[in-house]
Amino acid sequence: MHYISTRGQAPILSFSEAMMTGLARDGGLYVPETVPQMRPDEIAALASLPYEEIAFRVMWPYLGGTFTEAEFRTLLAQAYAGFGHAARAPLVQLGPNHFLLELFHGPTLAFKDFAMQLIGQMMQAALAKSGERITIVGATSGDTGSAAIEAFRGLANVDVFILFPHGRVSDVQRRQMTTPSEANVHALAMDGDFDDCQARVKDMFNDFAFRDGVRLAGVNSINWARVLAQVVYYFSSAVSLGAPHREVSFTVPTGNFGDIFAGYIARQMGLPIAQLVIATNQNDILDRAMKSGAYAMDGVKPSISPSMDIQVSSNFERVLFDAYGRDGAAVAALMAELKAGGFKISQGALEMLRATFASGRCSEEETLATIQAQFAATGEVLCPHSAVGVKVAEEHLGAVPMITLATAHPAKFPDAVERAVGLRPGLPPRMSDLFDRDERVTRVPNDLAALQTLIRERIAR
Ligand SMILES: *Cc1c(COP(=O)(O)O)cnc(C)c1O
Repeated sequence: MHYISTRGQAPILSFSEAMMTGLARDGGLYVPETVPQMRPDEIAALASLPYEEIAFRVMWPYLGGTFTEAEFRTLLAQAYAGFGHAARAPLVQLGPNHFLLELFHGPTLAFKDFAMQLIGQMMQAALAKSGERITIVGATSGDTGSAAIEAFRGLANVDVFILFPHGRVSDVQRRQMTTPSEANVHALAMDGDFDDCQARVKDMFNDFAFRDGVRLAGVNSINWARVLAQVVYYFSSAVSLGAPHREVSFTVPTGNFGDIFAGYIARQMGLPIAQLVIATNQNDILDRAMKSGAYAMDGVKPSISPSMDIQVSSNFERVLFDAYGRDGAAVAALMAELKAGGFKISQGALEMLRATFASGRCSEEETLATIQAQFAATGEVLCPHSAVGVKVAEEHLGAVPMITLATAHPAKFPDAVERAVGLRPGLPPRMSDLFDRDERVTRVPNDLAALQTLIRERIAR
């Protein structure tokens, strides 16, 4: 299995190289050269298997000999052992034909744990084989960073630096990043918003001297291994509702387009998905792009669903690559235009996108109203991101069962939940002392050279 860049100018890589690299050297993202197919009987055989076994069968064709079968099974077992629910990704029913996929039972209470716990195990195993040391640098709107730190804390061959926008993550998110005491964990509070953090990380990857000097590795949602790990729960939930004999639809609260892109891959592998619905908050560039054909930036408006406060959805590039007939030069040209503010999607590409995805947006008031209404109707307490999904899903309900992804635990965003329903959701017992632990964080400027100096100094110690 080979991986190629969406901009067509970077070396072709193996799975383990693509995992270690993250961003391609031409600024593009790695995608598989061809998508492995699962036959209907192979999909049907997944029903009733444990989550880890479904993960093995879905992911194995992508790994290209990186691990032996036994090794990969061990890594999967270790990755998901720390989850607080035996099903890993349980489905609960919200209404006659509407289901909620709870992806928040991992160690940091957001769906990011599904990919991050596994990539931590896979990177550690790959580094143990090669004896190398790497530096992980990531940007976060809150949940990726906590999940990455949780996955890499204390690992022998890894330093992990996480940039988060100062003052723009929730207290629980911040504390999950700043309270681990291991020396290889570096939480950096940067002046700016998430897009600034993501831009500085991209700058570091595009500075090849720095990148090679510190052996930079990326674990943001652009990392192909993360997307792949997220494909699994589309299969596990769909087969539990009768796939492949019965179609299902999904609605996905979307920021960087990683989670919904995993759904797109599941469909390409052969999972019969009827609708794949993009749900955005008031930062609705994707919904606007789908409706108008213009992908135009207009500044991030902080919301009560902060993990979706993004306007440059990095993984959207992967679907654009397909929409433009896998023409890397065309994608590179669009991304150059984006630097100047935006681009117009060609008619052909727009038709492909509209045939592939539906979309909707949810305002701040609608988010609160949805949390309130769901609590009254079902007793389910939604986090604000999941509420964005539920609201948009309700506009797309029909004959096919709808699965909405619940991306975080309500206790991660207690202020918004309390505003909506008047009660403060509690943390699960395993992390109830989070607010008693000491914090350790470095405030940093939005300045590439200063960040590079800090990273070089820290890893030299
Ligand atoms: C990361 C995140 C999202 C957005 O996921 P993408 O893959 O970036 O689209 C939504 N909700 C929560 C809680 C998240 O942490």
